[in-house]
Amino acid sequence: MERAVVVGASLAGMRAAETLRAEGFAGSITVVGDEHHVPYDRPPLSKQLLTGEWEPDRLTLAAARRDDLDLTWARGVAATGLDLGARTVALADGRALPFDGLVIATGAAPRWIPGTRGRPGVHVVRTLDDATALAAALATAERVVVVGAGFIGAEVAASCRARGLAVTLVEPLAQPLARVLGEPVGAVVADVHREHGVDVRLGVGVASIATGPDGGPVVALDDGSTVAADAVVVGIGVIPATGWLEGSGLTLDDGVVCDATTLAAPGVVAAGDVARWPNEAFGGEVMRVEHWEHAIDMGGHAARRLLAGDGPGEAYRPVPWFWSDQYDRKLHLAGRVRPDDRFGVVAGSLDERRFTALYGRDGRVVGAFAMNMPARVIRYRAAIADGLGWDDALADAC
Ligand code: FAD
Repeated sequence: MERAVVVGASLAGMRAAETLRAEGFAGSITVVGDEHHVPYDRPPLSKQLLTGEWEPDRLTLAAARRDDLDLTWARGVAATGLDLGARTVALADGRALPFDGLVIATGAAPRWIPGTRGRPGVHVVRTLDDATALAAALATAERVVVVGAGFIGAEVAASCRARGLAVTLVEPLAQPLARVLGEPVGAVVADVHREHGVDVRLGVGVASIATGPDGGPVVALDDGSTVAADAVVVGIGVIPATGWLEGSGLTLDDGVVCDATTLAAPGVVAAGDVARWPNEAFGGEVMRVEHWEHAIDMGGHAARRLLAGDGPGEAYRPVPWFWSDQYDRKLHLAGRVRPDDRFGVVAGSLDERRFTALYGRDGRVVGAFAMNMPARVIRYRAAIADGLGWDDALADAC
């Protein structure tokens, strides 16, 4: 391999580029990214950047400052197509970049409520531009409606409360985060937000968003009520950024489908939020993971897989790990959980809002979640990787 191309100049792509060099790759590495910014970190976008604690330049990824990586940049230009036969990536500026090895790391884009994209006062938070536009709007806002109480929505609600704004958090499910963590944990998260003054509206969706007489958005809920706001933030999930790969011959199904080693086609790997692969640590469950650490780890693994060439390559089999900060609560999750998994609290209590809970399936522990008990999640993460049984875990909590 002489020419590597990385599409997606963010966490997974930059780690892939770093790893190629760390493993001794001396050929060319071209990094393509459709954003104009120097690659940056996303987690602070819904936290320190929104509260005003951090300035944008603090978000720059360390790898983006490393001249020794000897990267060729194509920044501010989107990849528009992939020709697997000719082994080229088409760019929006008309160029066709030839490659011997390709890393796909285009991440994901936010879902919008239909008809609201571009409407004044309606925001999403995925990019630095999104977050700086929202922060500017919050500077003069008094009332914010956050639609969707997933991790991003819940963090945005907490950041807005830190700024002293009136916040309404709207969630169609019975509890925040219920689709990921189930209702018992979701109920605790809802209480934490209520205690911090958020108006939490559960089991109700958004019917429409109109523009009020003062020019601000007015959110009509499907229970017939309306909430006027100065800013609306939509946090209803993301869609993997695979549009540019349509018709390429790669298998696309809620992401770029890879084998267990991250290979999507000969000489083509995928990593981070955009990639789906069978994770052998979870019985080969085909998954796509939207976590910060995963993007880094999979980016590194995918680069090593490229360098392994025609060899079999190693399976990528992580126990995913995630954190979220909301007020003074630190949430940590290790594993892959579903709302219908078995559930048991093994330390602390839900009432104290400081606890560790386990999730189990088929006799195994598949996940550990903690609120303000991070060390335990790290211990359980290792135990989950070792195949910790459900009964053993409950008998002997670690
Ligand atoms: P991305 O970071 O999405 O990067 C993909 C890049 O590819 C983007 O720059 C995109 O513009 C570019 N791109 C897309 N299409 C094209 C194209 N056709 N051509 C060229 N470039 C293209 N995770 C946690 O574990 N904990 C947290 O607390 C946490 N907080 C978060 C807060 C926010 C606001 C967000 C948005 C994410 C958060 N995450 C968190 C998730 C984490 O940041 C992501 O999992 C991670 O950024 C994924 O990295 P990635 O490189 O796969 O994709």
